[in-house]
Amino acid sequence: MKSARTRSHASAALCIVAVALLLTGRASQRTSAQQADGELDVVQIRPNFHVIAGAGGNIVVQTGPEGVILVDSGTTGNAAKVLAAVRQITPLPIRYILNTSMDADHVGGNGALARAGLTILAGALAAGAGLGDDLVTNSGGASVLAHENVLTRMSAPTGQQSPVPFALWPTKTFAYNRYSMYLNGEGIQVIHQPAAHTDGDTIVFFRRGDVIATGDLIDTTRFPVIDVSRGGTIQGEIDALNRLMDLTIYNLPLQWTADRTLLVPGHGHVYDKLDLLEYRDAITIVRDRIADLISQGQSLAQVKAANPTLGYRSQYGADSGPWTTDMFVEVIYHELSAQKGKSE
Ligand SMILES: [Zn+2]
Repeated sequence: MKSARTRSHASAALCIVAVALLLTGRASQRTSAQQADGELDVVQIRPNFHVIAGAGGNIVVQTGPEGVILVDSGTTGNAAKVLAAVRQITPLPIRYILNTSMDADHVGGNGALARAGLTILAGALAAGAGLGDDLVTNSGGASVLAHENVLTRMSAPTGQQSPVPFALWPTKTFAYNRYSMYLNGEGIQVIHQPAAHTDGDTIVFFRRGDVIATGDLIDTTRFPVIDVSRGGTIQGEIDALNRLMDLTIYNLPLQWTADRTLLVPGHGHVYDKLDLLEYRDAITIVRDRIADLISQGQSLAQVKAANPTLGYRSQYGADSGPWTTDMFVEVIYHELSAQKGKSE
């Protein structure tokens, strides 16, 4: 009993170091330095949780007696490196890949990593449980689970070229608001967040580990990407951040401990509830400022000139690249203007 307690203290101490590293953002700096020479960054955040960074979107690795559960799979080009990183953590087979959206840097490793894995139902198949459906077992590989909208966006009507190769498609989808399962001694809830970053976003809540993979609902390096062409909306994004607030617990009353809910974002360093609060407030305040300017009858050019991201631009903004501050402001402006038009 005593030695078990000592061990758990030792691993708790390790975790404190890892969490401190991640929360201060040093891990993400290290990531960009290491990405330059193609190395992945693997950080342990709980005794049975690791984050792999540098392969595209962040990948959460949860391990336990039944094997490995991955949240997201990185880019296709990094799949071999991700597999090697998982193998450094455990020799146990990958059982599930859970996708938080249809983004190429989150689903790119689906095919290779699922093939390297093993269906969770192998034992049931061998026992003749009548579960020989390839859709359920993914031909013996790991299952790839996502919201139905992810499959819809990745595939194409019969006869047309699909935007994403078949090998990367989810093998199992759900159309309800959540999909729940119990694996590795852990209740896992995959919860759909409609019309946020895209229309297929899910968060993955590991209830015992108290870790939430948020996908690109949180990107600590910039304002969240609202992908309007694939069903994203600012209102859905804010709703999703508020839902995450509801699920997340502060390290109170013992503020000096590392105990708290950990949020692994799609990109950047691990958040806790205080970080989430700041991010949620920043986005809500920018949205409210733009709503106010629209109600004064201001044009998009006038709204931009009024600098509605003041105070947050240096932290989350960008003047170049795929997702600029201007693009973020435009998405909010157009969404709110359209609503205003409807209500008048
Ligand atoms: Zn992403």
